[in-house]
Amino acid sequence: MFEGYQILPGAQMRDYTTLKLGGPADWLALPASREEIAGLMREARSREIPVTILGHGSNVLVLDGGIRGLVIRMGRGMNRVEVRGREIIAQTGAMMGTVASAAAEHGLTGLEFASGIPGTVGGGVLMNAGAYGGEMAQVVSSVAGVTPDGGFLTLEGDALGFGYRRSAMQENGLVISEVRFRLEEGDPRVIRETMADLNRRRAESQPLDVPSAGSTFKRPEGAYAAALIDQCGLKGYAIGGARVSPKHAGFLVNTGERARDFLDLMRAVQRIVEERTGIRLEPEIRILGEDEA
Ligand SMILES: Cc1cc2nc3c(=O)[nH]c(=O)nc-3n(C[C@H](O)[C@H](O)[C@H](O)COP(=O)(O)OP(=O)(O)OC[C@H]3O[C@@H](n4cnc5c(N)ncnc54)[C@H](O)[C@@H]3O)c2cc1C
Repeated sequence: MFEGYQILPGAQMRDYTTLKLGGPADWLALPASREEIAGLMREARSREIPVTILGHGSNVLVLDGGIRGLVIRMGRGMNRVEVRGREIIAQTGAMMGTVASAAAEHGLTGLEFASGIPGTVGGGVLMNAGAYGGEMAQVVSSVAGVTPDGGFLTLEGDALGFGYRRSAMQENGLVISEVRFRLEEGDPRVIRETMADLNRRRAESQPLDVPSAGSTFKRPEGAYAAALIDQCGLKGYAIGGARVSPKHAGFLVNTGERARDFLDLMRAVQRIVEERTGIRLEPEIRILGEDEA
């Protein structure tokens, strides 16, 4: 099965997610080109094997039973970054921090917001990741990828369907292989200072030394998830090894080994916040895989 590709059978997903949770995937593939992604997708499709795409695993909760089928992880084999004038062309597995640094080095402004987001550009585009007033939608000019049936497609403009933590790729199933950014010229010193300032603010307010997947819930209309959770007295609230960060109530963190605890904590926080404020928090993180058998 999947001969000729770099495959790790039974890889523990806790080793591939920032939450450090999740059981084994049947097969974990580490592709090195879009042709390999397409080949893997076609083989999986012909054998009716489900496919899950993963970047750096910084916005996912993988459940304890792991993931059935094939997980295609975009990482080191697909992380080239090229700067051409005001354009940056990044392969999907490049980390956003690396691309933001390349932009700064070439005096290009627009990606400062992304320098502290610990994910790949593919994951960032899929989620329309954003911070401090910036988001991917403002700087991405086109996205190339592999369609569910193994063909190649490039999307740009309105076809990218960006909204708050949303993109068309969440619906059309395009597996992102390359992202083009269009940036503006700026002063490299100012760009670096802005990045350092944002990263300082992040380190001051977020629990960066404990496993998490960032903000667990989306920002509800007219409110902030962290403020609502705090208002309900839930800072520090824990179920097993999962806990509401005492530093930032929007971050649920993991200090244990069970995804089940994390899921139970998410549900408890949703229930308590809804009972006390009438507002339903929706998860921002994506839940993958299956509960333990
Ligand atoms: C400490 C911390 C701070 C964070 N701060 C922020 C923040 O400020 N702003 C913010 O928006 N997010 C933040 N996040 C969340 C996360 O880093 C972002 O959502 C990031 O963009 C996810 O990228 P990833 O590569 O880790 O994606 P993953 O978590 O691996 O995947 C996320 C989703 O994208 C899909 N996906 C990944 N790669 C591809 C691809 N190539 N093609 C198609 N689908 C793909 C996956 O199937 C999954 O559904 C934070 C996370 C942590 C841990």
